[in-house]
Amino acid sequence: MALSEINLLSDNSNPLVVENFIGGNFVKCSKYLDSYNPSTGEVWAQIPDSDSNEVDEAVRHAKNAFPMWSSKTAAERARFLIKIAESIEENLEILAAAESRDQGKPVALAKRMDIPRAALNFRAFAESICHHLNISNSIPEMGCLNYTVRKPVGVAALISPWNLPLYLLTFKIAPALASGNCVVCKPSEVTSVTAWMLCKLAKDVGLPDGVLNMVFGTGLNAGEALINHKDVNVISFTGSTNVGRHIGQIAAKSIKKVSLELGGKNAGIILDDADLSKVIPATINSCFLNQGEICLCTSRIFVQRPIYEEFVQRLVQETKNLKVGPPTEDVFMGPLVSQLHLEKVQSYINIAREDGATILCGETVDELSLAAPYKKGYFIRPTIITGLADSSACMQEEIFGPVVCISPFDTEEEVIERVNNVKYGLCSAVWGQSGERLLRIAHKLHVGTVWINCWLIRSLDMPFGGMKESGIGREGTSHSLELYTEETTICYKFQ
Ligand code: NAD
Repeated sequence: MALSEINLLSDNSNPLVVENFIGGNFVKCSKYLDSYNPSTGEVWAQIPDSDSNEVDEAVRHAKNAFPMWSSKTAAERARFLIKIAESIEENLEILAAAESRDQGKPVALAKRMDIPRAALNFRAFAESICHHLNISNSIPEMGCLNYTVRKPVGVAALISPWNLPLYLLTFKIAPALASGNCVVCKPSEVTSVTAWMLCKLAKDVGLPDGVLNMVFGTGLNAGEALINHKDVNVISFTGSTNVGRHIGQIAAKSIKKVSLELGGKNAGIILDDADLSKVIPATINSCFLNQGEICLCTSRIFVQRPIYEEFVQRLVQETKNLKVGPPTEDVFMGPLVSQLHLEKVQSYINIAREDGATILCGETVDELSLAAPYKKGYFIRPTIITGLADSSACMQEEIFGPVVCISPFDTEEEVIERVNNVKYGLCSAVWGQSGERLLRIAHKLHVGTVWINCWLIRSLDMPFGGMKESGIGREGTSHSLELYTEETTICYKFQ
């Protein structure tokens, strides 16, 4: 079935049926899971509920394809990846519509961000692998030349979350394939549809069978079988810290290479000389874009006291104007991804209330009126909270929704200490005018990325990852190569 023939308007009575992609074939599964449309709460697709049988088959095909794929030149592999990138670009509209329906994100955001980024992932890793230089040195006094060769690791298990489904999955597939590995992917069971569509594109451009395999299902069945498989050589995982901790333990036992991109509790810091006309719209994005379901969203904002009152008043005013509704329309925010996630986010708002906070706007304060079909959707208004101590669970734990806590601060030393005083270390954003002050703060934050006077600008050439419980390892054009290859040093004595 071509992508254009896929019925994205499928519903409960006639759901879309997603298939595993194993050894170049789309294969049915004996059991299926329901996948819900977050805008209506209705079933719209069925996802294979794969277990070790499907995983074994997929790993077997990946292992068999490895000698063929890894012996191709980087340029040959890159040609396939570029074709996939082009094919994603040609199918932008339908991929964006599917991502929006499956995940809840506004379709305009999927068109502007998720799908173009998925194409860029293939393009960027294809191009960079062709320009990679291995290191070498010579030791003339010993008559020796050293150089390194890089070899793909083998079969890569790629496990991804539901918030940026195709964007994050392709950030793993592209470097793994570019460097010569064959892959078995396990996308989130909550958002599987665009991964299945990607397999159709890969097949259409002639990617050899077995190079890319996709096994759908739950973490407990398909995921566990994959991370424990003896023929998997490297695991790349993006998801929650708890699951990441477990995967790290499994990988350590069998000495598999592993990369863990995990949760965050990211802070924004607004200094008293910041230009609020720029900071307010940027903060709205950094707190609420994609319903706040981006690992890099800021969920704690520290504002220097002289501008605190004005900042809060302006942020609340503009946030109240944000349009929330079905993601097919011109809205800023769609629904959250699932009923379970909605309940989790609401539970944190209840905790804030119990901890004595003031809810300035959003959930429990402002009404959200939706047309009848959307009444059972997982909608929530962007919510701003003040008056919490740093010890509150809302200031310490990842909420991963459109909820932000704002707090005043006085000195640089104080804010650095408070920002660092969480178990996570993914990213921060700092706003102000004085370069000296901004850099002094940026250098003292224990996070993988600091944005100064911006947010979410992500060059694929820069290392990406987290510190502390936000993860282990870095990904990006040269850093992903570290993960997906093994390096051998050759020392050649020529005299
Ligand atoms: P999750 O950890 O519940 O699931 C992520 C993936 O792991 C899913 O595919 C799931 O099926 C699978 N999984 C679950 N249990 C497993 C197991 N025992 N073995 C193997 N696989 C298993 O995370 P989620 O709820 O899908 O995503 C939200 C989380 O992801 C948040 O914590 C967010 O911060 C994080 N995240 C991090 C980044 C980053 O780059 N650091 C990016 C996006 C999301």
